[in-house]
Amino acid sequence: MEDKAEDVSRLEADGAEQAGVKPRDRPEEGPRKCCSSQSSRKSFRLDHRLEEDVTKSKKNLHGRFVNPWPTWTKPSFSALLKFLVLEKNNSKVPSSKEVVLDQELPVLEPYFIQKPHESGQTGAGLRVTWLGHASVLVEMDGLVVLTDPVFSQRASPVQFAGPRRFRGPPCSVAQLPKVHAVLISHTHYDHLDARSVAALNARFGGELRWFVPLGLLDWMQRCGCENVIELDWWEENCVPGHDEVTFVCTPCQHWCKRTPLDDNRVLWGSWAVLGPSNRFFFAGDTGYCSAFQEIGQRFGPFDLAAVPIGAYLPRDFLKPQHVDPEEAVQIHLDLRARRSVGIHWGTFALAHEYYLEPPVRLREAAERNGLKEEDFFVLHHGESRLLSSEDEDVFEGSS
Ligand SMILES: [Zn+2]
Repeated sequence: MEDKAEDVSRLEADGAEQAGVKPRDRPEEGPRKCCSSQSSRKSFRLDHRLEEDVTKSKKNLHGRFVNPWPTWTKPSFSALLKFLVLEKNNSKVPSSKEVVLDQELPVLEPYFIQKPHESGQTGAGLRVTWLGHASVLVEMDGLVVLTDPVFSQRASPVQFAGPRRFRGPPCSVAQLPKVHAVLISHTHYDHLDARSVAALNARFGGELRWFVPLGLLDWMQRCGCENVIELDWWEENCVPGHDEVTFVCTPCQHWCKRTPLDDNRVLWGSWAVLGPSNRFFFAGDTGYCSAFQEIGQRFGPFDLAAVPIGAYLPRDFLKPQHVDPEEAVQIHLDLRARRSVGIHWGTFALAHEYYLEPPVRLREAAERNGLKEEDFFVLHHGESRLLSSEDEDVFEGSS
């Protein structure tokens, strides 16, 4: 009986939603009025009518999240050893030849440093700026959104050891325009950087909303962040005062770890940002899985997707967690993305492919699938592209 009663109340809620009353974070609503972390624990559940056709997050008996797809296999110890010791590292990043790097991977000054008043002024269009690795600044529908912000020199718990970036960040946190929301994909150090989180929190405080996957709220609070929304896959929320743009935590195939014992205590995810004029997708860090078809069916087509294209060799070790350029193109197709931008390359040497190979293989894979170069493009560090609704994209950025 209780189940039935619950079903009835759910159906009533569905009815309200069909009538256009979307269960969002409205300022006038009592408990959700405050932006504190306490209220952030509450979020909206997936509409149960849709639950059957999407893959939900899953934990094992030990309370650790697991990947629910057959495309996931846990890398074996021998594969790890082979990767670390036996496999030839062909990344060949010029060590002391800044001139070569400046030619091959120039770091441009982002447009907003000279023209801060233009930030957020994209009309019906969307502007994307690559800030290196998985850090992307997206302006759309009156909001400025930042993904996986990493401004530090090293992707590491300490700044004297660990993977060092071979291209510096094109701007500092102080030089960013006003940011309304940050999306975090997972806890690995090249995506979640405590120093960058602290700097963003010091500059924007409680006015900046952090969207994080399930299990990360406590860590964010310990960093001092107050305005944190923690979501499970398929849950949604929004930025206060901008109800018209919906942020949905969506799946991807990856894993989490920051300390020796915290494997997969936190969920990993991708993000869909759905506005009245534009739809943006951030893939985070991922191997290929069927989630992208589900996301494309539910929320596509996207105006822009940011999809990783680097850190993929050797395949026998990295395939479950990192797509290669060919799989990135498949994600672009699955999502029904109008445009995609390649990220997760050209910044940290994390895997064994030649450091300039990802965009070359991307172009070949895109061509094989009948895509034009502008359909799945890469940007210079600090470079922007304005995607207009009339298909006439505009490049911005200066060296
Ligand atoms: Zn990762």
